[in-house]
Amino acid sequence: MTDTLVPTTTADVQTIGHLIGAESVTDSARYGRVFNPATGQQTGQVALASADTVRHAVEVAAAAQPGWRKTGLAKRSQVLFRVRQLIEERQNELAAIITAEHGKVLSDASGEIARGLENVDFCTGLLHHLKGEYSEQVATGIDVHQTRQPLGVVACITPFNFPAMVPLWMVTTAIAAGNAVILKPSERDPSAAVWLAQVFRDAGLPDGILNVVHGDKEAVDEILVNPTIKAVSFVGSTPIAKYVYTSAAQAGKRVQALGGAKNHMVVMPDADLDSAADAAISAAYGSAGERCMAVSVVVAVGPIADDLVDRIKQRTTGLVIGDGTDPASEMGPLITADARDRVASYVDSAVTDGATVVVDGREQAFDSDGYFIGVSLVDNVKPGMKVYDDEIFGPVLSVVRVNSYLEAVDLINSNRFANGTAVFTRDGKTARQFEFDIEVGMVGVNVPIPVPIGAFSFGGWKDSLFGDTHMYGPESFNFYTRRKVVTTRWPEPNESQISLGFPTH
Ligand code: NAD
Repeated sequence: MTDTLVPTTTADVQTIGHLIGAESVTDSARYGRVFNPATGQQTGQVALASADTVRHAVEVAAAAQPGWRKTGLAKRSQVLFRVRQLIEERQNELAAIITAEHGKVLSDASGEIARGLENVDFCTGLLHHLKGEYSEQVATGIDVHQTRQPLGVVACITPFNFPAMVPLWMVTTAIAAGNAVILKPSERDPSAAVWLAQVFRDAGLPDGILNVVHGDKEAVDEILVNPTIKAVSFVGSTPIAKYVYTSAAQAGKRVQALGGAKNHMVVMPDADLDSAADAAISAAYGSAGERCMAVSVVVAVGPIADDLVDRIKQRTTGLVIGDGTDPASEMGPLITADARDRVASYVDSAVTDGATVVVDGREQAFDSDGYFIGVSLVDNVKPGMKVYDDEIFGPVLSVVRVNSYLEAVDLINSNRFANGTAVFTRDGKTARQFEFDIEVGMVGVNVPIPVPIGAFSFGGWKDSLFGDTHMYGPESFNFYTRRKVVTTRWPEPNESQISLGFPTH
């Protein structure tokens, strides 16, 4: 994305403004350009917030939050039920917005919305999730109870690859818990966040509780130090996640910062190879590989490697790559021309590093100015090769051949990323052992993309998550609330006495 200092003023280019309180703010000193990745055409210009604009949004949020905190839980829950209903009724609109700015095919955009709605479902049960605890008679005549209270104003910074799902994972829980939110979506596909915020308002959320502030590093840097913001949720690449984690923690904030990934799918010799090949294709190339839970490495154990690679290769030939609005398309373009060229450069490096390029996505031609590239399958990949070591975030599937289960586990546990992983086997004992041994946050057994359902929480380990709280589900309610413990005694007037000792029971 290129910044422009002056607004573009052609009729086809809409200006995407911030939503602060009830106000759409389109004036800005800087704008970013938004493209349709399937055509390469600029479709929008997004206002990029200055630090002052962020500060203004934070003031608006801080002014609105006490009223929302006082709103009864049953009423908050009703707002979320309406949010759910509105998104479900209007999901085709949202899917079209996602496809127009991200490029993923419409069915995939619908899938993203469905997975985002799972967290809305979970949050409609906020009466239960915010329930406190009570212990009667912990000492004679003394009771203790614990409540959960909101933090105040929190910030959510989201990546380009799930422009609706990740905001729904974060903001819904933060709002359910009684906070006001500054949502800073990716500047590459910012419109879905604005659409969602409008839906929350249509559902009855008071103005100022969900504010959308677009921007880049300048806006993020203000979020990280602004003293009114008490917590930061971040999802994006590992270097930025690390930066957000360290900077915001240094400023005394709660932080959860989810980073990049390199997800391995182990195929044991006893696995059903057709199922494994189907899973590998779907999980590697769906959304053009631009998923944090995409499978980017297949670990072929023992003698099945040739057969497995062959089956995966056969399946690549039928894939339809095209504009995401075409129902025939199974995979869309990459997000930017730079992303497409970067993906191609990894296939270049695989050749130089001595891997075997079995299917070469660089060779596929497209009659379009969009950011398309074909899928690649690279065999005989090893640690130390760029194609293995880096997160590519594109439709490139590597195959690493190992001789044993232990070698497979060692390979995965030595990787700095640890978001998701999967094992394909028909042996329950192997699966159980894998689950026990593997140092990764989310594990699939014959499930290639093990994104937990909304009643569990989502998060990786090591360089895939900085902080100790996972996202959405129960852990998210912990992240967005503070626990307060109250100890109560109602003594008779003659029961009190002076005692300077530390109170014991
Ligand atoms: P990104 O790190 O480039 O951007 C994420 C957010 O950070 C955006 O809002 C962006 O505006 C902001 N940002 C970018 N550069 C910044 C800087 N220098 N200083 C401050 N803020 C900055 O990530 P992306 O390209 O939008 O998303 C893809 C990445 O996100 C991949 O690495 C993917 O694995 C990761 N991701 C991880 C998960 C997960 O659950 N772990 C989920 C989705 C995406």
